[in-house]
Amino acid sequence: MAPQPFNITIIGAGVAGLTTAFVLSQKPKYRVTVVAKFMPGDYDAEYASPWAGANFWPMGAPGSEQAGLEEATWPELSKLANEHPESGVAFEKAYIHTRVEDVGKAGSLFAQSDNRMPWWSHLFHDFKCLDQPRLPAGIHSTYEFTTVCINTAVYLSWLLSKCISNEVIFKRAVVEHVADAASLHASSKPADLVINCTGLMARYLGGVEDKTVVPARGQVVVVRNDPGVMATISTTDTKNNGMAYMMSRPCGGGTILGGCYQIGNWNASPDPHLAESIKKGCLAMYPELTQGNAVELSVIRHGVGFRPVRPQGVRIEAERVKGVSVVHNYGHGGWGYQSSYGSAAAVALLVEREAEVKSKL
Ligand code: FAD
Repeated sequence: MAPQPFNITIIGAGVAGLTTAFVLSQKPKYRVTVVAKFMPGDYDAEYASPWAGANFWPMGAPGSEQAGLEEATWPELSKLANEHPESGVAFEKAYIHTRVEDVGKAGSLFAQSDNRMPWWSHLFHDFKCLDQPRLPAGIHSTYEFTTVCINTAVYLSWLLSKCISNEVIFKRAVVEHVADAASLHASSKPADLVINCTGLMARYLGGVEDKTVVPARGQVVVVRNDPGVMATISTTDTKNNGMAYMMSRPCGGGTILGGCYQIGNWNASPDPHLAESIKKGCLAMYPELTQGNAVELSVIRHGVGFRPVRPQGVRIEAERVKGVSVVHNYGHGGWGYQSSYGSAAAVALLVEREAEVKSKL
């Protein structure tokens, strides 16, 4: 007798939900339905995924769970850049500048006080720490390496289409309570398991209501100017506009200029003053953005997205809620793409365990 399929409903069609659906749907025994309020093609500040740069700049502290998820994701993203250019993932040169005053204070992406190379340097075959004499005044050092940049509009749609090829069914719905999602499976039978990939909105989802998840507001300016590289400069003042970063999205996606990281700020409208200061910060960091002449930045759009920050870290965990088996996968803050495959693999292990238990009943 053929084994019974294991029915799964995933709530959420951001990068977490789509990657989880993509990974699980590669196993024929899983029948996956994705239910979401927002889907690829939509733009809303509470739907973080379209607003991301997005790139792979490891940010987890050495030895942390986040670092492990990032490390596990890199081979998958670099494989996509090598083998699937149509996914919107492409290699790009990155320059990470650390200011003298920020050494050891700006996080593990930047230079540390012991001058040790970052834990993630081994991931990149061409990683170099450029010598001080070759850099502008005020900069302690620059890391140079080739990473990936993701055109999120193309990539989210690519994930969606891969899922559809694997027979994942997509539905629009706003789920009130996490356990309700079990009854939304496309088979019309109750799902065996619900996966919660609701990002920031895990804060309000009934049965979860995780008030530790907060928005870290990110404002971006998307321009047509194409520097062809990505760059950032360290800061310890992320709240206002201390941050300056830029990256050129592949497949004609324009260049993202950012930004800010305003914890607890729910303002979904772009602030025009902040937009000006973002432009100035990026031009100061990389004047070549306007090709060294007075050409204005050509703005495609201004945007705001809320990073789903969970200060204690991502929640990848199984529990039972109102008798329904639930696996959580939310709270990826500003690193949801660069941890997406590592997170989906961790979820897949928990799902496997649940499916095994069910098969023995
Ligand atoms: P979301 O994308 O927010 O998706 C949540 C999904 O759940 C949506 O489909 C939503 O509609 C659905 N949902 C929620 N509640 C319900 C409900 N009750 N019923 C039905 N559906 C529901 N990350 C990187 O790795 N690299 C970067 O360079 C990067 N840059 C960023 C720059 C900015 C400006 C921002 C804002 C973020 C950036 N990030 C980056 C972070 C990344 O975007 C997020 O970590 C990631 O998008 C989170 O994905 P998610 O799927 O968990 O959440």
